[in-house]
Amino acid sequence: MTRPKTKKFKLQNRLSEVQEIEHLESWIASAKPDSGSNPLALTPLPEKSPIGKLPDGSFSRYAGVDRFRQLPLSKKTKDGLSAAGFLKMTDIQRASLPHSLCGRDILGAAKTGSGKTLAFIIPVLEKLYRARWGPEDGVGCIIMSPTRELASQLFEVLQSVGKYHGFSAGLLIGGRKDVDTEKERVNELNILVCTPGRLLQHMDETPNFECSELQVLVLDEADRILDVGFKKALNAIISQLPKYRQTFLFSATQTKSVKDLARLSLKDPEYISVHAESTTATPSLLEQTAMVIPLDQKLDILWSFIRAHLNSRILVFLSSCKQVKFVYEAFRKLRPGISLKCLHGRMKQDRRMGIYAQFCEEESVLFSTDVASRGLDFNKNVDWVVQVDCPEDVASYIHRVGRTARYLSGGKSILLLTPSETKMIDKLQEKKIPIRYIKANMKKVLPVSGLLAALLVKYPNLQQLAQRAFITYMRSIYKQRDKEVFDVTQLPIDEYSASLGLPMTPKVRFLKSKIKGQKMSKELVIVPDSTIDDNPIEIPQQSLSNGRRVEEESESEDDLLKENDTPRVGDDNATDTGYAMTGTRVLKKKKLKINMHRPVGTRVVFDDEGNTLPPLARLADTISDSSKLDKSKVNQRYAQLREEMKVVDKDDKVLDQKRRKEKRIKQKMKLKRGRDSEDDDRDSEDDISESENGRVGKKSKLYFDSDSDGGEGRKGKGSSSRIGNVTDSVTLAEQEELALKILSSMNS
Ligand code: ADP
Ligand code: MG
Repeated sequence: MTRPKTKKFKLQNRLSEVQEIEHLESWIASAKPDSGSNPLALTPLPEKSPIGKLPDGSFSRYAGVDRFRQLPLSKKTKDGLSAAGFLKMTDIQRASLPHSLCGRDILGAAKTGSGKTLAFIIPVLEKLYRARWGPEDGVGCIIMSPTRELASQLFEVLQSVGKYHGFSAGLLIGGRKDVDTEKERVNELNILVCTPGRLLQHMDETPNFECSELQVLVLDEADRILDVGFKKALNAIISQLPKYRQTFLFSATQTKSVKDLARLSLKDPEYISVHAESTTATPSLLEQTAMVIPLDQKLDILWSFIRAHLNSRILVFLSSCKQVKFVYEAFRKLRPGISLKCLHGRMKQDRRMGIYAQFCEEESVLFSTDVASRGLDFNKNVDWVVQVDCPEDVASYIHRVGRTARYLSGGKSILLLTPSETKMIDKLQEKKIPIRYIKANMKKVLPVSGLLAALLVKYPNLQQLAQRAFITYMRSIYKQRDKEVFDVTQLPIDEYSASLGLPMTPKVRFLKSKIKGQKMSKELVIVPDSTIDDNPIEIPQQSLSNGRRVEEESESEDDLLKENDTPRVGDDNATDTGYAMTGTRVLKKKKLKINMHRPVGTRVVFDDEGNTLPPLARLADTISDSSKLDKSKVNQRYAQLREEMKVVDKDDKVLDQKRRKEKRIKQKMKLKRGRDSEDDDRDSEDDISESENGRVGKKSKLYFDSDSDGGEGRKGKGSSSRIGNVTDSVTLAEQEELALKILSSMNS
């Protein structure tokens, strides 16, 4: 009974779907906006104006409208949108949807948080719906994201807005264990939301996986996906996709490279840049500030900032996983009074997702690498974005700060720059970013390096993390492409190392070797910033700006952050004379403090000239220095050592003979006394141990030393220890001879 009813219902449904699609197609075709026209330039139609087919048989225009319901969209999409609370369009949606709905390729740029996601999800749903796409048709759309978190967020939006549609959609991201299940199901999916790596994995490994019928390709954060990091994967993916398709590229910082567009075979794309005329490149409700502080005070500022904002949601960007791990672990142990979290690419995917979800829910501090810099739309607004390490370029800055002040919310950001990175402020201002310079209220800064030093003594693992954080930071600065902003030679490495709580500055070997490799002058080899210590005349120059001294800190509305009178963008004074620094005077004071807090009781090793060396540096040095040794001198030294060895050998022989004689006498005495063999054994053991304390024993030890050290490295050291001398001078034959002697003396 119910069967025919269902059939009838389905038929009706299909018929009404077909009619709806016909209606939509004629509407779209007849009221198309001209290519290249800007729908935003049209006055929006009044809300109550008739939509769709008009009484005269024509169709209402849909370019320039400002509500979703006025667009030629399927009922299912409209219902999905209103159920999710989306009624009025944002500018990027108004500008792009009329073009994308009529099948055009889109190159869309709009500020962070301005609603780009719906600008591509809606036309994807509509295109497949109007094509009556079904399970048997396979993959109809691929939406690519540079990160897993963003992919899952896009997937959620798709699920929410597309919930009345019958498409099957899948989230294909790396780090998930169920790849085999994915392989079984991926051929049945209509919409894939994925990261490039995982998609390629399926293209390579999944039997019968094909996208030959693909209708739409979307690249969210397109400039990032087109970047070198994804180049190989993306080329491989694109080579397997049909050229005839619709393509959408969206980002806040759009690619303008013709090559990129050619790679994607875009056909006369609509260039839609809704905020190109805007006076700012970042959201208008975003309050942006920059602070110039010495590298070694960054953690103090960060710590003080967190302590001063315990009821906020704070996103902190650091330059590498190691930095994130260290700061997170260290600060966690110091219990700042707010929940701390960390997110980086080396974490297991489940944990990454968990952390991301938690940060969306509770007020906390999230330390992250750039993995969280693109696209993420945290459910509840992020209050602060703090960039502890300078972003690699302006685009990266825009995306990081774009995690706050999304849609209609406000937000604040702070960028910490070292004195050598101040050029970044010019670059940001050139790209229409209204960033103010402020200075820290040093009275309110809570020094943390002393606490870190104590922690590092207590937790050796943390010390390792700190060392790695130090090295990766140095490496990241060295590898930065923009040499105008990043100059590793300007960094106060000893102070920075101490500020992480490290007792000694780790060696930055890769820097030395790279610099040598590039035939740079010797002065460029990294040394501690001696000007700070040795040349006090330099200090006032740095603490002066615009001919005035930086005023003493006083209380202000925000205890920690104090606004400087450096003008905003557009004010000529902003760029012509540079920026006020928080005085190097403070750095000096600070340095003393750091030294005071350094852990006591660390073993200090000195070299021959009396300079302090980090533990094991002697060993390390001999390795690096060995190449510099004069070979003839080394040979001469060896010859001398061999002579010395002969003398020692002679003495040894005499001593040995004497001992054996004594021993024989002793044994005879024992026999005479008729003692049992057990005693005899014990005596001979005593003899051996005795002999180990004497000359022969020493040689036996040396023999092992020379073996395990492998010679080459230690030879260079030469002079400092006798053990080293003797060991290094013994040839293999001599060593064997020595060993035999020892053995024979033991047996006798
Ligand atoms: P973008 O990709 O441009 O950075 P998103 O697409 O992530 O921005 O959107 C930012 C926020 O704005 C999201 O929380 C989203 O739900 C919201 N949003 C987008 N479009 C609309 C709209 N038309 N009406 C209300 N909120 C919207
Ligand atoms: Mg986005």
